[in-house]
Amino acid sequence: MKRIYFDHSATTPVHPEVAAVLVNYMTDLFGNPSSVHSFGREARKAMDQARRQVAALIGAESEEIFFTSGGTEADNLAIKGVALANKKKGNHIITTLIEHHAILHTCEYLEKNGFQVTYLPVDEYGMISLEALERSITDQTILISIMYANNEVGTVQPIAEIGRLARQRNIYFHTDAVQAASNLPIDVKKDGIDLLTLSGHKFNAPKGIGALYVRRGVRIEAVQHGGGHERNLRAGTENVPAIVGLGKAAEIAAQNLTDKIVTLTTLRNTLIEGVMAEIPHVKLNGHPTQRIPGNANFSFLSLEGESLLLNLDLKGIAASSGSACSAGSLDPSHVLLAMGLSHEAAHGSLRISLGWGNTMEDVQYFLNVIPEIVERLRAISPLHAERIELSAQSPCQECQLH
Ligand SMILES: *Cc1c(COP(=O)(O)O)cnc(C)c1O
Repeated sequence: MKRIYFDHSATTPVHPEVAAVLVNYMTDLFGNPSSVHSFGREARKAMDQARRQVAALIGAESEEIFFTSGGTEADNLAIKGVALANKKKGNHIITTLIEHHAILHTCEYLEKNGFQVTYLPVDEYGMISLEALERSITDQTILISIMYANNEVGTVQPIAEIGRLARQRNIYFHTDAVQAASNLPIDVKKDGIDLLTLSGHKFNAPKGIGALYVRRGVRIEAVQHGGGHERNLRAGTENVPAIVGLGKAAEIAAQNLTDKIVTLTTLRNTLIEGVMAEIPHVKLNGHPTQRIPGNANFSFLSLEGESLLLNLDLKGIAASSGSACSAGSLDPSHVLLAMGLSHEAAHGSLRISLGWGNTMEDVQYFLNVIPEIVERLRAISPLHAERIELSAQSPCQECQLH
């Protein structure tokens, strides 16, 4: 059976050129970059090059890139590291309700340890309000952490405006750019970004590698202690193969950025238009235009995202849903709820995230199979029977939002 991968926001395949680099630095060039001999020097040199490649992807200097074990660790280091280093100046952090758990749970941890956190709400499109951000700033505020693009609905925040505001008020600005990297042009200098998180496996590098950009001069403390690696900010022998692979993936991403944006936007728009035209009682979640190129997120009213996923999987299509079923309880997505969706609409959500390798044939195949799946599942849904009865009296309110 044909298999189609539509879940690039969860993880991506490693690019063959990146895989070749990985193997090379696990076998022939396996040195420890801290060693003084030629093996060590080779590894060090490769790591320096990777730092330049990653820096180039986001408009940073190579000395401002610190390698971590992934996006989660980079988020932890940014938030805890800045909080600890600046606690004499203040104890207030501003973030949003729609962040990744790597940010939210880190902030909750800091709240248990004397810090105060404001979680900004978002509108129906998942967008924060700059006025609300400005109003929430106090003389205790040391850090603003707002994601570049959301991992579920793809909404892109007004990063340059946030950066300008933070700079004016002398507050550090961190952004989790895991979903934006390789999907949008990023320029940390132009946008006034002080710290930025990247994760390799979201752009065709392996899992378990990421980076934190820290602008020169930012006060930050290490959260993991040991040797003096990564200029004392992140102890532990560097994962050289993955770091060199991350560098290669960053180089490939930078070279192909414009093409990727055009290609994925075309595929994504075809997919959205197809779904909206063919299927009744469906709502597009996220911003109509300010969203990353490969993201489409729908709510199929009176359906469970889980059953949609299973049925798509039977047809060879891998996607995901905002109703992650954890430990037997159905927890609707905190992002969709923050956007004001009903529990029902949140449960019926489906995320399609396109990436490298997806084609128009893939999109057409999806558009061919989805109407039949939705119809069949709705035929056995008690919620749907109720909706049909209601809509005979008044048109579907929720669908009219967009
Ligand atoms: C995937 C993801 C992370 C976590 O990155 P890992 O490398 O998997 O730890 C953090 N933030 C966002 C927005 C993500 O999509």
